[in-house]
Amino acid sequence: NLSKRLTLVAEQIPPGSTIADIGSDHAYLPCYALKHGLITSAIAGEVNEGPFQSAVEQVRKLNYTDEISVRKGNGLQVLNKGEVDVITIAGMGGPLIVSILEHGREKLPGIKRLILQPNVAANQIRVWLEENNWILINEEIIEEDGVIYEILTADREGNSPYSEEKRNLELLLGPFLMEKRSDIFLKKWKSELTSWKEIVQQFEKAKQTNEVVEKKKQLLEKINEVEEVLKWQN
Ligand code: SAM
Repeated sequence: NLSKRLTLVAEQIPPGSTIADIGSDHAYLPCYALKHGLITSAIAGEVNEGPFQSAVEQVRKLNYTDEISVRKGNGLQVLNKGEVDVITIAGMGGPLIVSILEHGREKLPGIKRLILQPNVAANQIRVWLEENNWILINEEIIEEDGVIYEILTADREGNSPYSEEKRNLELLLGPFLMEKRSDIFLKKWKSELTSWKEIVQQFEKAKQTNEVVEKKKQLLEKINEVEEVLKWQN
């Protein structure tokens, strides 16, 4: 059975797509998507030998070798132009996902949708999407085995989900997630607030250099803003 996390990623694939799953490990996601008729073909990319072999074996075991091409290589290097219309990258940190997209820039024309599931620092992905003219069209947040995950979907076209006044806050929390305010979302940011407050206490104990004072001020502003959001009533 596919994890709840990867099932949610799969749900973001428009039926009939061809996908590239980068950092595919066992190729569970493309195999699931093919089995459920979401895709016609896929590329599973892996940079490391162990996970690459796991993907090869999984695809062979399910007799999907005609439809799923398992390729070894770094990031988007495994793709040829025009081969797929959706890219999925799941289970890595936000900065690594951004770096894969950044280094694979020349492979992005022709891609219609990005489905990205960062384990941390989703805000860095939102910023990258904005700077590169991708439109964030959906966000999901879930908890599985005690870990909270976010799934970001971006298309080439659509209306910007960001407002002028709250843009920075929306880039941090996620405009759709802020709107939905699910229990998991509230839980995540309450826990972030707790750790930020601990950092403020560290700052208070430290020597009050200009840098410390400035950092503390910025963090307190961020705490206030996020607390405001958590206080809103539906
Ligand atoms: N995508 C799967 C998931 O969400 O369950 C596997 C996630 S696993 C934690 C991350 C995988 O990404 C590892 O198998 C790792 O080898 C691979 N990886 C890391 N950096 C990569 C890169 N630059 N290009 C391709 N694969 C990469």
